[in-house]
Amino acid sequence: MSAPLDYYLTELHTLAAIGKRREKFYKKLVGERFIDLLWHLPTQLSFRTKIDNIQEAPENTLVTFEATVELHQPGLRRRSPYRIWMRDNKNNRFELLFFNAYDRFLQRVAPEGRKIGISGQLKCDRAHDTVRYHMSHPDFMGPLDEMGKWIGAERIYGLTAGLTRSMVASVIDQVIKPSKEMPEWITDSTYPSFLNALKNVHQPQVYENLNFTDPSRQRLIFDEFLAYHLGMALSNRRTKPKVISKNTYVPKLGAQLEALLPFKLTNAQISAIAELRGDMQNGQQMVRLLQGDVGSGKTLVAVMAALDVADQGLQTAILVPTEILSRQHAAKIGELLQPLGLTVAMLTGREKGKARDKVIETIKSGEATIVVGTHALLEDSVIFQNLGLVVIDEQHRFGVEQRLALASKSKTAHILSMTATPIPRTLVLANHGDMDVSILNEKPLGRKIIQTKVISVDRLDEVIEQIKAIMSKGRQVYWVCPLIEESEKSDLAAAVARCDTLREIFGDKVELMHGRMKGPEKDAAMQRFLSGEATLLVSTTVIEVGVDVPQATVMVIEHAQRFGLAQLHQLRGRVGRNDIQSFCLLLYGQPLSFQTMRDCHDGFKIAEEDLRLRGGGEIIGTKQSGVPKFRLCDLIQEDPDDATFLEGLFAKAHNMANEALKNDPDLSSSQGLALRELLILHEYDNAELLRKSG
Ligand code: ADP
Ligand code: MG
Repeated sequence: MSAPLDYYLTELHTLAAIGKRREKFYKKLVGERFIDLLWHLPTQLSFRTKIDNIQEAPENTLVTFEATVELHQPGLRRRSPYRIWMRDNKNNRFELLFFNAYDRFLQRVAPEGRKIGISGQLKCDRAHDTVRYHMSHPDFMGPLDEMGKWIGAERIYGLTAGLTRSMVASVIDQVIKPSKEMPEWITDSTYPSFLNALKNVHQPQVYENLNFTDPSRQRLIFDEFLAYHLGMALSNRRTKPKVISKNTYVPKLGAQLEALLPFKLTNAQISAIAELRGDMQNGQQMVRLLQGDVGSGKTLVAVMAALDVADQGLQTAILVPTEILSRQHAAKIGELLQPLGLTVAMLTGREKGKARDKVIETIKSGEATIVVGTHALLEDSVIFQNLGLVVIDEQHRFGVEQRLALASKSKTAHILSMTATPIPRTLVLANHGDMDVSILNEKPLGRKIIQTKVISVDRLDEVIEQIKAIMSKGRQVYWVCPLIEESEKSDLAAAVARCDTLREIFGDKVELMHGRMKGPEKDAAMQRFLSGEATLLVSTTVIEVGVDVPQATVMVIEHAQRFGLAQLHQLRGRVGRNDIQSFCLLLYGQPLSFQTMRDCHDGFKIAEEDLRLRGGGEIIGTKQSGVPKFRLCDLIQEDPDDATFLEGLFAKAHNMANEALKNDPDLSSSQGLALRELLILHEYDNAELLRKSG
């Protein structure tokens, strides 16, 4: 590691100006390291103008001028302000106002009779024919020879409670001053160097400097894109076996399972399984993405691959984003594999102590053929006896880091990523350039299109009548609300409140589930719904990914306008999982067009429409949209020209990452070594990644 890199990785609390006391504020605002602070870019500019006297002061601008202190007038009562009467160069009188003032400080910097410099926002009250000038809490006041510093452009940073503008600006300056140049990792010499870019972005002079077209800003954004692509490429990279030995195993367990299934595999499933087998039999490491709309039966394809791996005595890990999904997968897969005499283990954050040790033991001993789990699987203490396949379900919910961590459990395991989220066209190449893709473009036979209706919340009574009728036929209903508590500020229907009203009608047939419930409570709720004991599940979006209850045929979504279309499509995918006609009812507060949702059932088209409609700013559902989040720039832009520009930059970074890896697969050249440092700066420094690359 180079010395400059060490500097950028230094922890912020080591600065006296931050220390243990302010560390938490900075952690919240930017992160923990110097570089995190330096990547906190100014968002606005204001300008301070020098004026001769207060009559020259333009409205609503910051001004700097000389004035003489005439009289101090401490507040009479506790709450009244401390005043200082001043006269400017033209003998105009005005007052400075201080609330909660430190008297002694004011007497020291502004003693009566002295001429001093002042800077801040001057206010002017006109009443009848009198004019009163005043300034509350000047930004600066002090000796005349300091005034030069209070003129010109001034950057404004985003803040968090506990920090002020000038605190943040001064800490940034303090950190940037001794910063050193990093070794160069980009090959495009039109950009300023890393250090110069950092220095420039913190000294904006004109508004254009705040835009991503500014070369310095762009360089830093480009760096971030580059690190991302490099991380992606490395995490998707195959570990190339030295000798490619064909591995023409005969799938036995898979054939047994197929014979036991109560249904036939769809043609799409059959060909996907064949593609997976093709990969695994040719002796190479499989790195494949299985893309299929909600309900297309991806889990079963993954299980079939796991069985092929089990035929050879190897284990499979299935990583899922939520505990609910983990439990559901473990139960369903366990059921499927029981007749084959295979064991499925599960590990989530909730298994603790002895229970956890026991699971870990079955993983280590090889007793567990398939291990389903959440992030808990990634911990170092989880060791597989012989991992043959890693399945990442809902892969867009995981970051590069997590994917790397799981892959690091075995250098040779096959990797199968699965997603229902259609990835926008512009990102497919970027995210999966090196992956093979299988697509499930067909739903199991007999599935009907889910009828989608858009209904005003005024017609709630009718909706309730409808679901009453449906529930009386033994079908089940999901009812999704966006928030869990009624907050004073919003009139959103909260899940808790909605549950209460629905219980008045349907009694204990109603179950409630939300993100703040504890794990076991969630399980119990889900279990009651799965078993059919409860027929109406009121919930927040915790149910959104992967949950599979075939008897559920109605999905009610309140405040549908709060969701992104892609997210609505995911939610809608919870129903229509058997051959009964299913419904999705979108309730809205204000009228809004959901034409796309009504008419379109193709998740890919929906995702593109979603991006187009939502544009920037709106975060709800970004997680679902498959668009990665960046700290220096949002890839989703409202203005189509901006969007095109950034996509271009993103693509350029993709090319540069690929080019660099092609020329220097081990990242051992001077550019390669510099790129390693870039990865570390951007926290893609998983050991495996660096190991894999050399
Ligand atoms: P997703 O692709 O959204 O992950 P799942 O794997 O959860 O979908 O499958 C949805 C449902 O379809 C499950 O209940 C599963 O058992 C069922 N299923 C899977 N394949 C078939 C098939 N070929 N025929 C009928 N039902 C199937
Ligand atoms: Mg699934």
